[in-house]
Amino acid sequence: MRLVLPGTQASRGMALGRARLVQPSRYMVDSRPLADDEVAAELEALHRALDAARRELRELRSKLHGALAREANEFIDAHSLLLDDGELLRGLDELVKVGRYRAGVALKKQGDKVAAAFEAMDDPYLRGRKEDIEQVIARVISALQRQTSAEERKLAARVGELLVADTIAPADMAQLAGNGLLGVVASGGSAYSHSAILARSLGLPMLVGARDALSLIHDDDLILLDSEHAQAIIHPTAQDLSRYRGWQREAAAEGRRLATLANAPTRTRDGLAIRLLANAETASDVASARARGADGVGLYRTEFLFLRHKRLPTEEEQFTAYRELVLGMGGLPVTIRTLDLGADKADAAGLVLRGEDNPALGVRGVRLSLRYPAVFTTQIRAILRAACYGPVRVLVPMVTQPDELIAVRALFALARQELKRENVDLPETLPLGAMVEVPAAAINVRALLKHADFLAIGTNDLAQYVLAADRGNDALDNIYTPLQPALLRVIAYVISAGRRAKKPVSLCGEIGGDVHFTALLIALGLGEFSMHPAQLLQVRDRLATLDAAALRAHSLQLLHADTHEEVSALLTQWAE
Ligand code: PEP
Ligand code: MG
Repeated sequence: MRLVLPGTQASRGMALGRARLVQPSRYMVDSRPLADDEVAAELEALHRALDAARRELRELRSKLHGALAREANEFIDAHSLLLDDGELLRGLDELVKVGRYRAGVALKKQGDKVAAAFEAMDDPYLRGRKEDIEQVIARVISALQRQTSAEERKLAARVGELLVADTIAPADMAQLAGNGLLGVVASGGSAYSHSAILARSLGLPMLVGARDALSLIHDDDLILLDSEHAQAIIHPTAQDLSRYRGWQREAAAEGRRLATLANAPTRTRDGLAIRLLANAETASDVASARARGADGVGLYRTEFLFLRHKRLPTEEEQFTAYRELVLGMGGLPVTIRTLDLGADKADAAGLVLRGEDNPALGVRGVRLSLRYPAVFTTQIRAILRAACYGPVRVLVPMVTQPDELIAVRALFALARQELKRENVDLPETLPLGAMVEVPAAAINVRALLKHADFLAIGTNDLAQYVLAADRGNDALDNIYTPLQPALLRVIAYVISAGRRAKKPVSLCGEIGGDVHFTALLIALGLGEFSMHPAQLLQVRDRLATLDAAALRAHSLQLLHADTHEEVSALLTQWAE
């Protein structure tokens, strides 16, 4: 029977295919006691995960050299010892064998118990070990989860299928897309998560927040994913299929019309020139950015390089990737963002601190890079070397205060000296910019502008932090909207501070590429947009219909709005 499942559009498009369900990892959610005949298999899974965690630590140690090894070996040793600790292991086995707990639950219980014991100690050194135990347990739990996802991946990696899951990690999405995945229906997740960003970049339709997806959809059900109307249709009718064919024809015609704009200049109707930059991570992003006439790359997220390698990429590997990017853009400026791991950007390289209570407010982005100067310097050297091949700018993520930019500049200066001694060619200048995505950076932007050559507003995170609403949490959709007056005031403030300091300000969050927000951003004074290449032509098309002077004359109305509903009403009024 035909059934319509509503959700939220995370990536546009439609797709027709058979469903492949991925249930959340059974190790983590299943708190039912084990049956007699399940104990042995569960113990085996637990010990496989413990072995995997030991192996990861050994591999990590063998990959680290020089100063970095000195920094990291201490924690690797401490963690390896804990993984072989007889008492910890006996406790775990007992919880599974006697307590009949599943492996994930046993790990959590035993971890909490040992952490509490450490915390109760008088010796401050021993008290500090609590963090180690939490990190070790987190490592084993993630190894345990990977065991299921390996099976899940095998299951799901069939061509012509739609993945139905609770949420999906960006790395899994990339792998599945390579295997012919058609689209994703997620019961959780948000349109601003990294998976959603990746889906848009891969051109995969994706629906999030389709609440009952996992209970209403079954393996092999025929599904019409209609992200255009924010819904998935289970058992579509002939009428649905004919609408799908209509959409395919329209999408092709719209594609042909937009293609004629590829070489057109980007101007508003009243003649204001706007710079359109691309958020590009892959060679095909670079090719489509050029094919659509981007003015450069406004955001190259280097963490995807780290995720692809599942370890720390070497200086040579990074240099090659950055040089390809620079050469690929044929002399147009390229903005390379330094590593932004942490929070929801999973870390396959083993750098992110485990067990942080609040990773989104933790050691992420530049905070993490500065904690590992040797890793950071490897990246800096690779960027400096690649910058000889074309104009490069460096963008620093998660900046909170000026001293972070000062520290990054100092590391660049040191790396320059080092490379000079090695007789390596160096670029003359390398502009250094800051992402504005932490409220403190926005509010104190004038101080930041004394040290930054340019700014890029990261609205995905800025919205999350201004609104105290997790960008990946779909339960907060009515709060996490870019139309919030508080967010608009912050954005407008940053743009005008940049203009006064005569320094370029771009915006590279997801709203930059969403035509629903183009008029709004022009009204706020934005002159540089950075977005996924697939969105460039639509935004250029929309800009050509807008009267920038009139919109800017109305900006005070926006800034004086009390609620996001009022902002939304104003935008509708302007569109009429
Ligand atoms: C942002 O936060 O808006 C941004 C562009 O960075 P990312 O999405 O990679 O966190
Ligand atoms: Mg960000």
